[in-house]
Amino acid sequence: MLRRQIESILKFLNSLGSKKKCYICGKTFDHFSKLRGGSKGKSQFRKKLDMVGSDIDNFRCMYCGCHDRERHLFMFFDKLGLWRNIKDSVILHFAPERHLARRLDSESPSKYVKADLHPKNEDVERMDATILPYNEDKFDFIIANHVLEHIPDYGKALREFFRVLKPGGIGIFQTPYSKLLQNNFEDEGIDSDELRLFFHGQKNHVRTFGYNQFLSELETVGFDVQVKKHDECFDAHAAYLYGVNSKEDLILAVKRVS
Ligand SMILES: [Zn+2]
Repeated sequence: MLRRQIESILKFLNSLGSKKKCYICGKTFDHFSKLRGGSKGKSQFRKKLDMVGSDIDNFRCMYCGCHDRERHLFMFFDKLGLWRNIKDSVILHFAPERHLARRLDSESPSKYVKADLHPKNEDVERMDATILPYNEDKFDFIIANHVLEHIPDYGKALREFFRVLKPGGIGIFQTPYSKLLQNNFEDEGIDSDELRLFFHGQKNHVRTFGYNQFLSELETVGFDVQVKKHDECFDAHAAYLYGVNSKEDLILAVKRVS
């Protein structure tokens, strides 16, 4: 009871501020909620690697509950005009974020499949990204935002995504990465929640991606990789105001037209 009262007082005080603005719901407030205590709780290993992933200090919006990675995708979609490509297109969306799903739906795609290995809602299909139940060349868009770091055989998932995308189709496979690592880092010995949290940043992450290896694997699979840098798309204040990670590039994986 007391805890709930304190929480509602803190929420009220937060609502009085105006330093931050949610890009999705448009409301202003003092700060976004942190994830797991924010960067103070980050392991030394992750700090040394200068990991680029969620903005854990500016994570959740107190009003609409969106998280930073979802906000960042909205910003990139607006900036690059990607919403226009959604109309009449065929979309596969893994681990669909609530606000992004609603917006994609509102843009009138001809078919929109929401999928997850462990779906929690009825409108999300149970699907394993490494064995997609589709023929070749079916989708115009595949979105799997921060999904690959959960998949043990992520190379197989990338090959499946490539197979079912139409030539010229776009994949968005954002994942946490380190630009210091040349290669991915994973090891079978990292087999407990505690170790995965320390090395991979979350109990259910199975690796830490090295930026270069990730990009070159996308190319090996057959994608043309287009990197859109945050700083080239948005002004210097945007990351602070909207609570997103200015170091996170948007990586578009476009299926080559052969
Ligand atoms: Zn919001």
